[in-house]
Amino acid sequence: MEHEMTIDEAAKRAEELRTQLSQWSKQYYVEDKPTVEDYVYDKAYAQLVAIEEQYPDLITSDSPTQRVGGKVLTGFEKVTHDIPLYSLNDVFSKEELFAFDQRVQKAIGHPVDYCCELKIDGLSVSLRYENGEFVRGATRGDGTVGENITENLKTVRSVPLELKNQISIEVRGECFMPKKSFIQLNKSREVEGQDIFANPRNAAAGSLRQLDSKITAKRNLDTFLYTVADFGPMKAKTQYEALEELDKIGFHINQEKRLCHSIEDVWSFIEEYHEKRVDLPYEIDGIVIKVNDFALQDQLGFTVKAPRWAAAYKFPPEEVETKIEAIEWTVGRTGVVTPTAIMTPVRVAGTTVSRASLHNGDYIKMKDIRLNDTVQIYKAGDIIPEVAQVVFEKRPDDSEEYPLPSHCPVCQSELVHLDEEVALRCINPKCPAQIKEGLNHFVSRNAMNIDGLGPRVLAQMYDKKLVSDVADLYNLTEEQLLTLDKIKEKSANNILTAIDNSKENSVERLIFGLGIRHVGAKAAKILAEHFGDLESLSKSDFETIISLDTIGDIIADSVVTYFSNEEVHDLLAELKQAGVNFDYKGIRPAQITTIDSPFKDKTVVLTGKLTRFTREEAKETIENLGGKVTGSVSKKTDIVVAGEEAGSKLTKAQELGIDVWTEEEMAEALSESRTNPE
Ligand code: NAD
Repeated sequence: MEHEMTIDEAAKRAEELRTQLSQWSKQYYVEDKPTVEDYVYDKAYAQLVAIEEQYPDLITSDSPTQRVGGKVLTGFEKVTHDIPLYSLNDVFSKEELFAFDQRVQKAIGHPVDYCCELKIDGLSVSLRYENGEFVRGATRGDGTVGENITENLKTVRSVPLELKNQISIEVRGECFMPKKSFIQLNKSREVEGQDIFANPRNAAAGSLRQLDSKITAKRNLDTFLYTVADFGPMKAKTQYEALEELDKIGFHINQEKRLCHSIEDVWSFIEEYHEKRVDLPYEIDGIVIKVNDFALQDQLGFTVKAPRWAAAYKFPPEEVETKIEAIEWTVGRTGVVTPTAIMTPVRVAGTTVSRASLHNGDYIKMKDIRLNDTVQIYKAGDIIPEVAQVVFEKRPDDSEEYPLPSHCPVCQSELVHLDEEVALRCINPKCPAQIKEGLNHFVSRNAMNIDGLGPRVLAQMYDKKLVSDVADLYNLTEEQLLTLDKIKEKSANNILTAIDNSKENSVERLIFGLGIRHVGAKAAKILAEHFGDLESLSKSDFETIISLDTIGDIIADSVVTYFSNEEVHDLLAELKQAGVNFDYKGIRPAQITTIDSPFKDKTVVLTGKLTRFTREEAKETIENLGGKVTGSVSKKTDIVVAGEEAGSKLTKAQELGIDVWTEEEMAEALSESRTNPE
């Protein structure tokens, strides 16, 4: 504070801060949609703490400093935590960290060991197991009452449904979205005209607090567990031992941890991970420092909100300033018109950045972004440049609100908002930009995988009227291709061969390539597997489609709408005429009865290092042979395949008397297996 406040001034300021903080908290915890960066919140919070320390009489019971943030969403059953979940006290500098150590030493009377862990930017969850079985999962909520999200947590692969030991235990930790999944999710949300998530934490929270667990299942969430509510059933006497014990029991724990014997070592750990954080596959927002010894933790105890034996060191924000020089609008495959900020090039977190998506018109309005504004940018998920906020003090005097376009920048048709969408959309199905994007999508790697047809070649083909839809690709001739820039005989022939080869693709590639809204590569595979061919899919109905595993109503609705279009049937007829395969070439679940394999109907666990297969390959092959591959060994396991350096899972299998195979034995059994599709 710049000057000593009077009590009246302090009371007024405290009230303002409380109102502001609770509004931000609601947006962050309840709506999963923060409007300010964490450090802005943290700064205001620190101011309130300072005022309340100076004038303790001003503390109100509803002050955010006295309560763990978070509220239970309606629609979820409430869960009362018998042992509350706490928040953490933050430190923002080396001085504050050392002061924390001083307080600990003073209370204990001597230096202590600390267990350092990464502060995963996700949301706290509590997982309850009874006799080794997962029975309930909950969010932290306000610390005492959280949301029952058991079904959603069951879809998270790293949450074991059964433990190796039949213990009753409540394990706590962080559920998070890896950076890669976050980036993919936001990309597809932008394409679909939906709001994007500000950061992986909000994406994880939004994904976990879904009333439909099919949605959660698709979001690739992961967990790192770090503590238990009650250590009764465990042997660990320290935090470091607890992490190792949780690992052994079968939980996913973060291996980037360290036992430090002094606060100087803690500081080195912080500095090391400040450097390494951009390369981690998940986002962290700091380092958590915990007094290692449980007996000493007990001695220190808790405040109303957080343990006295731990601190969260928060990394300073990595934000830099630059200027918005222009805003470019592009039309995507589904007609969504997306703005991109063109900025003066600047270095952020290791790379030079000059473009950042502004996602949609609402985003520009909400942040009040204007041409020539100075803005602060950061990297979401440490990779994607994002505009954090405008530096309003640097706004030019003649600045004017940025006018959103009313017409498509390519075909000039009027832009619209569909339903509740935030996106502006061009709904002209003949819009050249959309058709070109559709062609790009059709030839892309996960779709028909036609090499040699980059966006420039396709755009030229379209502009020269050689192709007007994807079916036309199959009628192209060498002479036509030779009229395009830089295409000589050899490349023309390669292109024609690639197009020809694509006719043989299994149909899931075509289903994905058609660009049916909301149908990604995974959904396309599920549809192909179930229906077996495109004709059956095109004649199917909403009820049948929605009954499929992991296909929700949005996809089902979109598929039915797509195939109800006359023009689509004309397109399919043209593709068929051209000789494009409409059949699924993999093994269909309905055909599995005809499999002859020792893996059929067996539950298999893969452990240790495999040398001849990747885990994914082995899993897929076994599943194609009607087996089920799970992560942990239990009485229900039939076969454990133990590769090199197999550890606790192998021991467990031996204890339970389960069949243990070497990788060689597995390979042999795989090669002898037969599938006999009808
Ligand atoms: P916090 O996120 O700062 O710290 C506590 C949490 O850290 C724990 O509940 C746990 O979930 C998590 N954590 C991650 N890794 C951990 C580990 N290894 N060990 C222990 N805990 C670990 O505290 P909070 O109370 O959840 O949230 C407050 C913070 O949320 C603020 O500091 C602010 O940054 C942010 N916030 C932002 C806004 C906004 O509008 N931007 C609003 C409200 C809160």
